[in-house]
Amino acid sequence: MTKLTQLTITDALKGLENKNFTAQELTQAHIDAMQSAKKLNAFITETPEIALKQAKASDDRRAKGNAGLLDGIPLAIKDLFCTKNVQTTAASKILEGFKPEYESTVTKNLFSNGAIMLGKTNLDEFAMGSSNTTSYFGNVISPWKRDGDDTDLVPGGSSGGSAAAVSAHIAMGATGTDTGGSIRQPASFTGIVGMKPTYGRCSRWGVIAFASSLDTPGAFARTVEDTALLLESMAGYDPMDSTSANKEVPQYSKSLNGDIKGMKIGIPDEYRIDGMPDEIIKLWEQGIEWIKDAGAKAVRISLPHTKYALPAYYIIAPAEASSNLARYDGVRYGYRANENDLQDMYAKTRAEGFGEEVKRRIMMGTYVLSAGYYDAYYRKAQRVRRLILEDFEKAYEKCDAILTPTTPSAAFAIGENEDDPIKMYLNDVFTVTGNLAGLPGISIPSGIDKDGLPLGLQITGRAWDEETVLKIAGTIEKAAQFKCMPK
Ligand code: GLN
Repeated sequence: MTKLTQLTITDALKGLENKNFTAQELTQAHIDAMQSAKKLNAFITETPEIALKQAKASDDRRAKGNAGLLDGIPLAIKDLFCTKNVQTTAASKILEGFKPEYESTVTKNLFSNGAIMLGKTNLDEFAMGSSNTTSYFGNVISPWKRDGDDTDLVPGGSSGGSAAAVSAHIAMGATGTDTGGSIRQPASFTGIVGMKPTYGRCSRWGVIAFASSLDTPGAFARTVEDTALLLESMAGYDPMDSTSANKEVPQYSKSLNGDIKGMKIGIPDEYRIDGMPDEIIKLWEQGIEWIKDAGAKAVRISLPHTKYALPAYYIIAPAEASSNLARYDGVRYGYRANENDLQDMYAKTRAEGFGEEVKRRIMMGTYVLSAGYYDAYYRKAQRVRRLILEDFEKAYEKCDAILTPTTPSAAFAIGENEDDPIKMYLNDVFTVTGNLAGLPGISIPSGIDKDGLPLGLQITGRAWDEETVLKIAGTIEKAAQFKCMPK
């Protein structure tokens, strides 16, 4: 029998149904994997007891013929999703020990489909980062290494713990959130699939807020089909989130017939940026060949405002963050500094409770929203955001989806890019546009670089058209035959 941790979700569901193994055995195998990979620091809170209890209940359900879509599948949950009575920290000291009174809608949906929670995964503090090095609970180490080099690498961020757990076969899938690239970039760095659906597809209820107009829950798995299955289970209208869309969720996992014949795939001129490694350009060209071989047409498109996307994002996201994070004042939950005076208590709690990057964002956000600067920065960034959306709308008159690299580089070493925050922000150059426009996007592992590290290709689709995105992703997955495993 194949090792249980090597199975895809789809195969595991078949195995459970055929009684080849039980959910309890499947879960135990993944708990063992979690225990033997502690060095990665992928989890902030491990919940093996909960997992085994859920697995037992799953086996009982299946025996009665009541199994759900994901019954018995062990998942990792990003520690930004509130989980009832289980510590939820956003990787911040300010929320250490916080046990929510309620469950996020996304995790509730997953659990009501029978999924199992192995634990809560590490992330950049409040999901701010691209390397998972800003966590109060220490950085995550990627399961990948460069060939012949023992240097520890970042798994990407902010959902670095989720990506590392799936890549290292600790979890069969995981939840993530993507505000500027935090699902697609770590998926690309760790050689797995990561999908951000259309903004509004998955509820934000119970997801700790970073930048509310951009935050999008989504999924990680090792295959496109598994990712589709997870998304199908997570998504859906939720009256508790005013930006949740009241739209039918298609059966994503059934739409993967791989037929992209006659589709038009846009290749944007503006994504050829200076200094991008040759290997990434080559992989992109290879991707174009793959989709042509499958009967699609590549068309040149222009997204002229791309160069303003990062500056606009790094105004809008911090502005929203500064407002969202105002609630952490030491009064109602989380960390409280010891001070007699109320004002001093607020100030000291925030000074001691937040890390450096979070403070930087709060300061930037407060600045761009302040009188006199609001028009110059925040309002201008909002206008740029509109132009970026219009770029996409125009492009989609000529094509059905867009193919680009996911990131401008492969994973880097822990500590690299830390000297200058702008360098770190450059990681998001190909992903933030999709967030600013609210569009669905996926990263598919498609090749390796000269050091043996994974590289991803990204498909961005029209709003609400996750099915086309998944179809093209399935085609690339089949052509790429990415079989590499971290050592
Ligand atoms: N890396 C980006 C940032 O630091 C995006 C983070 C995210 O998507 N949560 O803001």
